[in-house]
Amino acid sequence: MAKIQAIRGMNDILPEQTPLWQFVESTARRVLRQYGYQEIRMPVVEQTDLFKRSIGEVTDIVEKEMYTFEDRNGDSLTLRPEGTAGCVRAAEEHGLLFNQTRRLWYTGPMFRHERPQKGRYRQFHQIGVECFGIQGPDIDAELLILTARLWQELGLGTHARLEINSIGSSAARKEFRGALVDYLGQYKAQLDEDSQRRLDTNPLRILDSKDPGTRKLLTDAPRLEDYLDAESREHFDQLKKLLDVAGIAYTVNPALVRGLDYYGKTVFEWVTDSLGAQGTICAGGRYDGLVEQLGGKPTSAVGFAMGLERLILLLDTLGLVPEEANSNADVYVTAMGEAAVAPALALAENLRDELEGRVVISHCGGGSFKSQMKKAGRSGARYAVILGENELENTTAGLKPLRSDEGQSSVAQSDLAAVLAKALAN
Ligand code: ATP
Ligand code: MG
Repeated sequence: MAKIQAIRGMNDILPEQTPLWQFVESTARRVLRQYGYQEIRMPVVEQTDLFKRSIGEVTDIVEKEMYTFEDRNGDSLTLRPEGTAGCVRAAEEHGLLFNQTRRLWYTGPMFRHERPQKGRYRQFHQIGVECFGIQGPDIDAELLILTARLWQELGLGTHARLEINSIGSSAARKEFRGALVDYLGQYKAQLDEDSQRRLDTNPLRILDSKDPGTRKLLTDAPRLEDYLDAESREHFDQLKKLLDVAGIAYTVNPALVRGLDYYGKTVFEWVTDSLGAQGTICAGGRYDGLVEQLGGKPTSAVGFAMGLERLILLLDTLGLVPEEANSNADVYVTAMGEAAVAPALALAENLRDELEGRVVISHCGGGSFKSQMKKAGRSGARYAVILGENELENTTAGLKPLRSDEGQSSVAQSDLAAVLAKALAN
């Protein structure tokens, strides 16, 4: 019978890869905690209308990427394509936004029916960060400072660059949209197919078209910058100043408009050149209108989401995976002969008490000296501890380095933890 396989674009994350995932996740968790962000966990499925009303009917996501289905009651449900909508829904539903500020984050799988390719999948994972109730550019700056710290802690250094833009108030965008449509309408036939369609549905998205012909027409098109309202302009100027003082380098990219309806004022992306076309590792912006649009009181909001697959791909591609994220084992404790089994389990237990954070694997299942040492070697551990008849008699243990040519030595069991602690620290 043919074996059943995973769904295209939905990946298994295998045991060799999970240490790197855990490194990225725990680093993010630690950094977010340092800034006082609190974790929130939402369901993976929401009512379809939530996404239609928040992301917007004429966006790529809602038009063609959502996994939407009818459940047994005939309700239209959707696997979440992103986290902001669900986060706002949950925060509103539980009164988290009333007269207060909130700094929230979440992580988990997202689902989009896109063409699978490197850095683009149908189930992928994001860490999302959202901040509610703060109006000024200081919080926009904080989010960008936080992300810069995260790249540092991940060892990414300067491999991600920041692009920012302001897309103004909705009134300003509306006026600009009119001017853009008037201008591009004259050249409709010369636009690429997607852009022709977007001229009627979502003309701002034409600004980030990759088509050379369309790009050429755009050089003389009206500029969003010239239509910005005074408040958005002031907000953007202040943000730039705050970033300058914080020492966060950025470029202003006037073509950056983001694909979702709910953004306004600040938008930003962290981009790398090392992943080809899927170079955006983190994206977000301000969305002051969304809470009200979903039935709540007007609430300032700003946030971003980063794609974990792309971050992990980047660390891998650049060879920046730290040792701790590569190794699944530190010490492998063998037991030679029936009599050694219980003492070896006890010795391993003692090592776990003493060697905080270290991975101690007990050999289970018996076998010859040779086969146990082979398994010790394959485990990735740096040291094998050998317990046999002689060692039991003398309350010692054999200690054998597995990644050098050094020979085996004999250590008193009472000294073993201290000796290993020192050896592993090198
Ligand atoms: P893109 O322009 O690459 O399609 P997007 O604007 O659709 O990205 P967002 O909705 O802003 O992406 O999601 C935030 C981040 O999530 C992206 O910057 C990216 O890192 C990641 N991401 C988005 N879609 C996918 C996907 N299909 N597979 C893997 N990661 C993704
Ligand atoms: Mg997309």
